[in-house]
Amino acid sequence: MNCKEIQRMIPNFIKQELKEESLAEFVAHIDACDECREELAIHYLTTEGIHRLENGASFSLDDELDDMLDQAERKLKIEMIAENICKCFELVAIVAVGFSVALMMLI
Ligand SMILES: [Zn+2]
Repeated sequence: MNCKEIQRMIPNFIKQELKEESLAEFVAHIDACDECREELAIHYLTTEGIHRLENGASFSLDDELDDMLDQAERKLKIEMIAENICKCFELVAIVAVGFSVALMMLI
């Protein structure tokens, strides 16, 4: 994905509406690209930051942005682990079925 495509995804990222595959690419790109990270910071500041300041809450752009990216990375990791667990179960099920079929043929 190029910078233009990534920057088009920024509003959806802030709303946490990115799908898993796009989120992975988005986070990887933001980690590596200063220009898009800056763009994300500006968007985040104008949407979330202003809202927060209006409510009189303190707001640290860098911290919050890092938190948000961390959260996204954590979410991706959990989803990856969950997927692997599912694959493991599938494998166990396949082996179990194969084993019972073999047993039935022996009997
Ligand atoms: Zn970029």
